[in-house]
Amino acid sequence: MSRQTIIAGNWKMNTRCESAVALAKGVVAAVGEKPTVQVVLCPPAVYLHTVADAVAGTAVELGAQNLYAAEDGAFTGEVNAAMLTDVGCGYVILGHSERRALMGETDADVSTKLHAALAGNLVPIVCVGETLQDREANQTEAVIETQIRGSLAGLDEVRAAGIVVAYEPVWAIGTGKTASPEQAEEVHAFIRSLLGELFTTDVAAQIRIQYGGSVKPSNAKELLGQPNIDGALVGGASLKAEDFAGIIAAG
Ligand code: PEP
Repeated sequence: MSRQTIIAGNWKMNTRCESAVALAKGVVAAVGEKPTVQVVLCPPAVYLHTVADAVAGTAVELGAQNLYAAEDGAFTGEVNAAMLTDVGCGYVILGHSERRALMGETDADVSTKLHAALAGNLVPIVCVGETLQDREANQTEAVIETQIRGSLAGLDEVRAAGIVVAYEPVWAIGTGKTASPEQAEEVHAFIRSLLGELFTTDVAAQIRIQYGGSVKPSNAKELLGQPNIDGALVGGASLKAEDFAGIIAAG
C-alpha cells in the first residue's frame, strides 16, 4: 500500500499578515508546481483567508489549527468547519498536545471535533503523543491506545481511511529533542496495528501517520524513510521557508 507523504506546517500563534504572506509565498516557490509530497500550511485562524489568497492556484494546501464542533450560532470567539472550508481549508489539526494541556481538550472533545470536521469535508489531522513521564513509566503504548480509541470513537471504516494521525511525543515538541527514527517507527507501527484492530488492516494500511516533534531538514530524511512514517507535522521549522522546504525535499 503506497501512501502519499504529507508534510504539514503548524504555525501555531505566530506570524502577522505580512510575514504570513511572505512565508506562504516562500513555501510555494520552494514547492514548485508538481510536488511529489502533499504540503499543507496551517496558519493562525485570522490569517487563513490571507494565506488562502497567497497559495491560490498552487499545489500548497491549507489547514486550520482547530475548530469548534457546532453549526453557526451563539459561540463567541469560535470558528466552525463550514467557515474553515469557506476560506479554503481542506485540513484541520485536532487534539494538538498544546490544546490538550493548555485548553484541557479531552479525547471526547477531539472525537466530537473529528466528526464535525468530517461532516464539514475537512480532513482531520488527529494528534496523539505521550509525555516524558509516560515514556519513562513505560506507559507510551497505553497512553497512545487510550488517546486513539477515545479520539476516534464512533468513526466508521469508510471515513477512517481518509483521516491523518499525527504521532507527536510531547517531550519532543519544541524542545529540540527528536524521537530517534527507531523510537518513532516503533510507535507508528503500534498505532497502525491498533488502527487495524479498530477498523480493518486494509483501512489501517491507508491511514497516513505523521511524525511530529522537532523535525528539521537534518533529521527529516531518516524519519520519513521509516516504513510507517508517512509525513511530518512541523512546528518551529515550518516558520522558515527554507527549513520547511528542506523537510519537504526529504519527503
Ligand atoms: C508541533 O507543534 O506540532 C510540533 C511538532 O512542533 P515542533 O516541530 O516545533 O517540535
